[in-house]
Amino acid sequence: MRVSHYPRPRILNILSTCYRRRTILTLAIETSCDDTSVAILEKDGVNEDHRLPPQPTRTKLHYHQKVTSDNRAYGGVHPIVAVESHQQNLSTLVKASLASLPIRNSSIADFTNAIFVEGELRKKPDFITVTRGPGMRSSLQCGIDTAKGLAVGWQIPILGVNHMQAHAITPRLVSSMAGVRGPDFPFMTLLVSGGNTMLVRSAGLCDHRILAETSDMAVGDVLDKCARDILPAEVLKAGSSVMYGRLLEQFAFENEPYNYIPPGDKKESDRTRRTHYGWAIPPPFCSETGSGEKRNAMEYSFSNIGSTVKRITKAKPEMDVAERRLLARETMRIAFEHLFSRLFMALGDAMQQEMSTVVVSGGVASNMYLRHMLRATLDARKLGYIQISSPPVELCTDNAAMIAWTGIEMWEAGWRSKLDVTAIKKWSVDSGNQGGILAVEGWINVL
Ligand code: AMP
Repeated sequence: MRVSHYPRPRILNILSTCYRRRTILTLAIETSCDDTSVAILEKDGVNEDHRLPPQPTRTKLHYHQKVTSDNRAYGGVHPIVAVESHQQNLSTLVKASLASLPIRNSSIADFTNAIFVEGELRKKPDFITVTRGPGMRSSLQCGIDTAKGLAVGWQIPILGVNHMQAHAITPRLVSSMAGVRGPDFPFMTLLVSGGNTMLVRSAGLCDHRILAETSDMAVGDVLDKCARDILPAEVLKAGSSVMYGRLLEQFAFENEPYNYIPPGDKKESDRTRRTHYGWAIPPPFCSETGSGEKRNAMEYSFSNIGSTVKRITKAKPEMDVAERRLLARETMRIAFEHLFSRLFMALGDAMQQEMSTVVVSGGVASNMYLRHMLRATLDARKLGYIQISSPPVELCTDNAAMIAWTGIEMWEAGWRSKLDVTAIKKWSVDSGNQGGILAVEGWINVL
């Protein structure tokens, strides 16, 4: 073996680094529920040689669009309407996205990784990312089938990723788009959407533990149902989608500042507040709801909030707007304090002392009152050093940009999917008991 006794010229190091740095480009598809979304995402400055020190990277979202099926006639998502909307819109979105693929320099050597789009040479994606689960099976399969077609046609791999993992790591996409890193693992995530409510501890890309989960309804679902009972008919009618939770927030604080006072150390079960109208919404897991024995359980429950709101509004069909607004605020306060109660139980655990970031992700995370309440409560509990990391509103609800980012992180970790993968309706991110993201069949690791 020939051993060099001379230091390697610096220019060679730089050249070799440049040579090994490249971009990763993916086209991503999200169809897990009623949103059809397509994204093209590119991460630049990726280090191909793991022996080299990490380089600054930047991620660019070249294209991102979504179409949501109109389910207003059903008061919630209708599976057949959702599938028909995917079938109508997905190909059109994919076609439109191609014009946003980065331009390829037209040297002969580049033809292998390029495609012609309307007469222009553009970079071919390195792989297709698609949501594989969890979600509505037939909706998921629409996206997967299209993804497979693109992968076969372009002769590139496919990556079928977990939708909940994507929600949890979306803040890492946001940072990367700003040219910075983070949040680094470990972090806590409050995953709050229309179909899920969970508190997750994330220690790595595929290393997640669910610390608390809802035993009945998701928080987004209960807010949607309460909104239908609370909102005046004309407000409901003016809504453009079935995201009634969003309307509830707008209605509750129309032009008024927040006046939230955190409860300090008061137990969640002691926070029932009787209003001057005579009604109160008791927190879940207190003696008034008959489930006081669960006050320390690492579990969520929202159904009682829904039934209490229904009872209050039924008893007073002529309720005026001021009372309805107060009811909207109290509904959110009780639901969000319940969310935080399990977060603080977990943060009090010695195991979680190193935690400095709480990610709040999923559709309900776009609620500004929730973010305000959480910040105020962390500060009141002398946890001001804990950062709240919430994606911008358009990345909180279901979207293909977060799927694309998950594809890129999984790709860098060496993961690819086999071409025969199919939709997975229930797919937990929890890696305990040999479960989790990697426990399903269909993964290949190339590293
Ligand atoms: P996702 O399931 O992640 O797509 O999120 C959809 C859920 O988020 C629905 O239940 C929406 O009503 C809810 N949502 C969206 N925006 C808000 C908001 N500003 N406040 C409360 N809930 C919201």
